[in-house]
Amino acid sequence: MSQSLNGKVAAITGAASGIGLECARSLVAAGATVVLIDRAEDRLKMLCAEIGERAKPLVVDLLNGPEVSGMLPRILDIAGGLDIFHANAGAYIGGPVAEGDPDAWDRMLNLNINAAFRSVHAVLPHMIAQKAGDILFTSSIAGVVPVIWEPIYTASKFAVQAFVHSTRRQVSQHGVRVGAVLPGPVVTALLDDWPKEKMEEALANGSLMQPKEVADAVLFMLTRPRNVTIRDLVIVPNSVDL
Ligand code: NAD
Repeated sequence: MSQSLNGKVAAITGAASGIGLECARSLVAAGATVVLIDRAEDRLKMLCAEIGERAKPLVVDLLNGPEVSGMLPRILDIAGGLDIFHANAGAYIGGPVAEGDPDAWDRMLNLNINAAFRSVHAVLPHMIAQKAGDILFTSSIAGVVPVIWEPIYTASKFAVQAFVHSTRRQVSQHGVRVGAVLPGPVVTALLDDWPKEKMEEALANGSLMQPKEVADAVLFMLTRPRNVTIRDLVIVPNSVDL
């Protein structure tokens, strides 16, 4: 077992499923204490018990602004510090713009953009004060490629990319690294909204990844020497055609 994050404390949002859960498992295996943040309380507690004592549940509804803004003291209380914050939670909506539901877009944009930025606002002062820290986003290949079947989701991840790049430039002088992992399609509950034919086609041509591959990329980024920031790490299946 690698111990490269031994003694570090990480917090990951959207950690009760998919990519966030797999990242939590990997970081715990690498020696970190991990605060798993999600609104799915029962599942979160069950998963933390399964992962082990260095996995700590924190129930937060990321769409509740005051709850997000109040996260930092709760994380510090649970885990005794914070070195790594992974803004991972996100939702997905695809389909034609002309046929979309703008109220559903608002909910998705609030999670993918506003909640993520607010959570960084909540934890950044702590990292600046300790002159060290890592802020990592789960962005998407849709953060750099205008994917034709999902304009609103793509817009949300372009916004994430802009935030990552600007914030990295702003806080690097304080010893805080800011980066993003940009996966292609990963087999998680998020793809439940994909049309059946699209999923069948993706399965048939091998254009899906497993969450573990993203977690490996995240661990790689976090374990680079402190003077190196991996700003964007794109990870896509070989066969993906964008
Ligand atoms: P997922 O649906 O498996 O997990 C999302 C988690 O977020 C769930 O545990 C859910 O309970 C939690 N969550 C949702 N709304 C919440 C809220 N208001 N408060 C607290 N928790 C909330 O999804 P995933 O595929 O693991 O997605 C994680 C990230 O990866 C997202 O940002 C997504 O955009 C990105 N991503 C996913 C894929 C993919 O193909 N699955 C590809 C590229 C990027």
